[in-house]
Amino acid sequence: MQTNFSLAQLADPATKVSEKILRTCVHCGFCTATCPTYLLLGDELDSPRGRIYLMKDMFEGGKAASAEVVKHVDRCLSCLSCMTTCPSGVHYMHLVDHARSHIEKTYARPLSDRLLRSVLAFVLPYPNRFRLALLGAKIGQPLRPLVAMLPRVGNRLAAMLDLAPAQLPNRVPTDRPGIFPADTSAQEISALIQEGENAAPVTRRGRVALLRGCAQSVLRPDFNEAAIRLLNRHGVEVVQAAGEGCCGALTHHMGKEESAHGFAKQAIDAWIAEIDGKGLDAIIVTASGCGTTIKDYGFMFRDDPAYAEKAARVSAIAKDVTEYVTSIGLLPPVVDTDFTVAYHSACSMQHGQAIRTEPKTLLKKAGFTVKDVPEGHICCGSAGTYNILQPEIAGRLRARKVANIERMQPDLIATGNIGCATQIGKGTSIPILHTVELLDWATGGPKPEALDALPRKPLPMAAE
Ligand code: SF4
Ligand code: SF4
Repeated sequence: MQTNFSLAQLADPATKVSEKILRTCVHCGFCTATCPTYLLLGDELDSPRGRIYLMKDMFEGGKAASAEVVKHVDRCLSCLSCMTTCPSGVHYMHLVDHARSHIEKTYARPLSDRLLRSVLAFVLPYPNRFRLALLGAKIGQPLRPLVAMLPRVGNRLAAMLDLAPAQLPNRVPTDRPGIFPADTSAQEISALIQEGENAAPVTRRGRVALLRGCAQSVLRPDFNEAAIRLLNRHGVEVVQAAGEGCCGALTHHMGKEESAHGFAKQAIDAWIAEIDGKGLDAIIVTASGCGTTIKDYGFMFRDDPAYAEKAARVSAIAKDVTEYVTSIGLLPPVVDTDFTVAYHSACSMQHGQAIRTEPKTLLKKAGFTVKDVPEGHICCGSAGTYNILQPEIAGRLRARKVANIERMQPDLIATGNIGCATQIGKGTSIPILHTVELLDWATGGPKPEALDALPRKPLPMAAE
């Protein structure tokens, strides 16, 4: 695509990057076929190619964001399905991130919209505030019909109430900074090590940091608890570093760059202290939305002399938990895991991080029957705060996703992202668990409660 930027415009590092991205687009339109919003709305301006034209026009003209650009960029899920499809390698994520930040700086949203976004940015990344807000939502749930009638924001406030869990899970003892030592006593680990690359006796197989994060620790603390058990059982020491919290992804996707960078810097400082101290083999993430952002820290801070190098070091060792477990090898299952699992691959997992096989391979090794979900490349509508800010589109995507999953008649659903677990979980009675919960149970951890409620399978008929 031809571009027309002045030298003065290209002196801005963000514009320079965007110009390079724009030039790689050959406007072939292949991406439109896999874009969820184009699929639902059928409007070229709600397709990747249409949005690319809108962003190009805005950046080239040095213009403030218009209401039209905001409407179509806001409708983008940042699912990155278009990046997987694009044959030219257009880095849509960096382009739309730049556009969101430009919108935040140059567009005056209506007051109600600004207030709602500010509240989300003030609450969601802070577990204590989020917990309080969820308790408030529980009290406010009976008022939902009235709330939904409020002008402009009613549908979005109602979506917030709908997404709040009926019951908040209890806090878990592992949700704290600290070190969770490797279990080096298990015979199976020794056996695995003997078979593997390390023949010499070892006291532990690795040392990793695990992101505690924000919303997930409130909504599903059992995810990280299972990850810690699983890693410890595999001889891996886990540290949850003091000082890290939200990775910045939530506010980053709202275009609130300053806030996102503040969170990211805290996390980088906390992990660099560990890397330079006792050392880390990996930074493990159990929410693929966060993983995509942490892997992009190197890019986010490329022009920051104080953080560029540190951010790149953090990104270089960031791994989804399934990537890491694949690299060290999964212990054999110790229980009968005779369940059929529909694996829902989060967009941030398959499109953002290009992790497509590892979670399914691990589940199969753990004894589960794994089924792919039809239209698996299409987003479930979660997308950070999207299901609150764009509830109609998000609701339609959830209904489509749930119908595709239920058609497979699985016993349960596995995923690797808290946003998807919440979004899909609100649309179906099929239990939805994190992949690590299933791997943990299969290799010796406690059985997830949700599985106890499943009907028992008939025992196979004895041979005549
Ligand atoms: S598929 Fe890639 S090159 Fe083709 S229009 Fe979409 S972004 Fe541009
Ligand atoms: S990120 Fe997703 S919603 Fe946005 S343009 Fe690309 S495919 Fe469409």
